[in-house]
Amino acid sequence: MTAEDADFTQPVYHESDVDRRYVDDKTVAVLGYGSQGHAHAQNLDDSGVDVIVGLRKDSSSRSAAKADGLRVETPKQAAREADIVSVLVPDTVQPSLFETIEPELDAGDTLQFAHGFNIHYGQVEPPEDVDVTMIAPKSPGHLVRRNYEAGQGTPALLAVYQNATGDAQQEALAYADGIGCARAGVVETTFREETETDLFGEQAVLCGGVTSLVKTGYETLVDAGYSPEMAYFECLNELKLIVDLMYEGGNSEMWDSVSDTAEFGGLTRGDEIVDEHVRENMEEALEEVQNGEFAREWIAENQAGRPSYRQRRQAEQNHEIEEVGERLRDLFAWADDDADVEQAEVSADD
Ligand code: NAD
Ligand code: MG
Repeated sequence: MTAEDADFTQPVYHESDVDRRYVDDKTVAVLGYGSQGHAHAQNLDDSGVDVIVGLRKDSSSRSAAKADGLRVETPKQAAREADIVSVLVPDTVQPSLFETIEPELDAGDTLQFAHGFNIHYGQVEPPEDVDVTMIAPKSPGHLVRRNYEAGQGTPALLAVYQNATGDAQQEALAYADGIGCARAGVVETTFREETETDLFGEQAVLCGGVTSLVKTGYETLVDAGYSPEMAYFECLNELKLIVDLMYEGGNSEMWDSVSDTAEFGGLTRGDEIVDEHVRENMEEALEEVQNGEFAREWIAENQAGRPSYRQRRQAEQNHEIEEVGERLRDLFAWADDDADVEQAEVSADD
């Protein structure tokens, strides 16, 4: 931990804390070439680390990885040759892929993840003689790649689940540096904390909470006789402006930027709407994450071929707000990029 980070509750590591010798003479197998996989593989390769991309024979990503100048093998062969196996296929695919590669893990090898779900909920049970670590960049893969190419970094979380060699933490930190994350900062956590906070956040606030809030606001206005277009603008479209301000400077910057009327109304009514009852619901959702109930439900759902997932996804797509939004976004498509602006100008002249 460096002095400037003394105010954080958890250790934060930077480039000065890294010893790159922990990865320099090692071979890394990057399994999967999706959002995270393509970024980790290319960044490590550019950092001078020996990389093999592991993909199934029929994977459509093979040509992309080869075009990026990387060596591609099957996951099994890549894991056989590698010292560090970075598991970057979708979380629901990891347990079956692990069965394929487990025989290829030698004592002292490392099994590395970018999310803790399968380890934390016991869906992957690694042998005791390998290190098990996590480097989880806090952004989508294309930003991990773009930041690296720009000489910048993406913050990441680091966790050690199993330290068979005694070097697990230093090696994970060196890997994080290889993908550029130590340039920004690497925050230490645990598999349990990363998994549970990630699941809770996406359920209660980021994905589930915010869409339910938007839909309920929209329905309240429309049910009271207001036009769907106005309800869409007020409850969904303007959310982006608000979130951008929060992202830039926290809630305070948002409150500073809106009108006094909006601030007074928000401050007096917000906590009445998202009230103690909502807090109790959030606590319940957190409990289901903590006691494994949510994980069991999601695993069973996948085993059953995702019937409920499909049904709920369909219902969400059929919500009136989607149809209203599509019409309105078409109308304002000129806002998207310059090419569209030109096109809008041309058709305005017609
Ligand atoms: P992804 O869905 O973008 O890509 C997965 C890749 O895995 C595919 O491109 C393909 O190459 C391969 N793949 C897909 N199905 C497969 C199958 N059946 N068998 C073998 N290989 C298959 O995945 P992602 O979003 O990069 O997620 C990888 C890991 O990174 C996950 O653990 C995820 O939780 C974690 N993570 C993702 C993000 C993110 O922003 N996407 C951020 C942090 C952590
Ligand atoms: Mg997430």
